[in-house]
Amino acid sequence: MSDTQTPFIRCENISRIFEKKLDFASKAARALGANINEERVQAVDSVDLHVMPGEVVGLVGESGCGKSTLGRMICGILPQSEGNIFYKGQNVAEMNAKEKLDYAINVQMIFQDPYASLNPRKRVKDIIGEAPLYHGLTTKKESDSYLTEVMEMCGLDPSFQNRYPHQFSGGQRQRIGIARAMAVKPECLVCDESVAALDVSIQAQILNLFMDLRTKHNLTCLFISHDLGVVEHISDRIAVMYLGRIVESAPVEDLFDAPFHPYTQALLNEVPRLDKRDVEFSALMGEIPSPLDPPSGCHFHPRCAHVMDICKKEEPQRREIAPNRYACCHLDSK
Ligand code: SF4
Repeated sequence: MSDTQTPFIRCENISRIFEKKLDFASKAARALGANINEERVQAVDSVDLHVMPGEVVGLVGESGCGKSTLGRMICGILPQSEGNIFYKGQNVAEMNAKEKLDYAINVQMIFQDPYASLNPRKRVKDIIGEAPLYHGLTTKKESDSYLTEVMEMCGLDPSFQNRYPHQFSGGQRQRIGIARAMAVKPECLVCDESVAALDVSIQAQILNLFMDLRTKHNLTCLFISHDLGVVEHISDRIAVMYLGRIVESAPVEDLFDAPFHPYTQALLNEVPRLDKRDVEFSALMGEIPSPLDPPSGCHFHPRCAHVMDICKKEEPQRREIAPNRYACCHLDSK
């Protein structure tokens, strides 16, 4: 397999389970016969996902579907409960300390709330400039010019380097978060709802910055969002997630032209589009069910307009419905 065929990141059957232990009172009540059990949430359920070098994959789904948990596992911030993550073909679990450091530097996460992720007591020059100095990407002598270069690359005025995060607007704070990540020269960004907290006009500016950085630095990107409209213009391929599972993945044009999975159709129905005025999609009914007690079979069945008997009993397996297109649904793809 040549390097262009080896995914930059590949998740193989990864799951993440969160367990809430019983407190003392609950344990005592259970000892006395109460039917109380530990809460167990499967936030991510047997996910296979890959991102090729230089590719931008949009990961979409409603709030609480597990997409942020998946992003955090891919960045190595959160360990997976099951399955494997491969970085440039190498299993992360089998890496030595030096390889793990290379992976941690090369795959950077950008968070939704730039204010919460920036240390309020640090000046911008330290927020952006500390890590490249620490990792030897610049020297003390050259750190000022390096900082200027990174700030300008991210649309920040270098003369503001002595300011604190609270002295910036929301959009500028997100640029500081992006500059902090770009300062260590990563090959991959995992952007978790990185424009969700911003006004629409500022969202467009930050999306333009991502597209610009992607082109100039040949970045690989996983762009996580609840909004299909946001990921459409930035992604090469889109993966749709529902209650911990990837239910459909396809190149962006294919997914928008002919969404296959009923959940993708319903999500698309919520994106205003001039060219789809005549298409009738099924509306998305009801709330996302609790991951504490997910529906049997296909998790989407209580909300699906095409539900069949089999959907309530059997979990649909991932299958190729067209070249480079995958879906988990019992509907016939013909
Ligand atoms: Fe709907 Fe059944 Fe497909 Fe699930 S498997 S999306 S319930 S048709």
